[in-house]
Amino acid sequence: MSKAQCCCGKLRLEIDGDPTINVVCHCADCQRWSGSAFGWSMYFEETSVHASGNKSEYLPGNGQKRYFCPSCGSTLFWFSPDFAGLIGVAVGSLFGERRPTPMASYSENSVCDWVNIPTDWEHHD
Ligand SMILES: [Zn+2]
Ligand SMILES: [Zn+2]
Repeated sequence: MSKAQCCCGKLRLEIDGDPTINVVCHCADCQRWSGSAFGWSMYFEETSVHASGNKSEYLPGNGQKRYFCPSCGSTLFWFSPDFAGLIGVAVGSLFGERRPTPMASYSENSVCDWVNIPTDWEHHD
């Protein structure tokens, strides 16, 4: 089982299964929610992710639902219409051993100059 938590630890996830998708994305939205050069996301079956603690919801207007801790602001998980039946989890919030290398990189048209993406990954603009 994998576990994830926000910075303050009040919002937590327990995850039973293995991720089906493991990607980074360099779009402006992912840079904003992660506060970093790219967002790193793993998607799990919806039924295998169990959240506990208070959460706030953000609806960006593109059909996504994003959930973050109201105390410390960390984004922890989300639903996207692009991945029906799955939950996206912010990989930085996971702890333990289960952080496998991503398989693909998205929105490479807005990648930061200093980021070097491994050539054997899938590449998408
Ligand atoms: Zn928190
Ligand atoms: Zn993105």
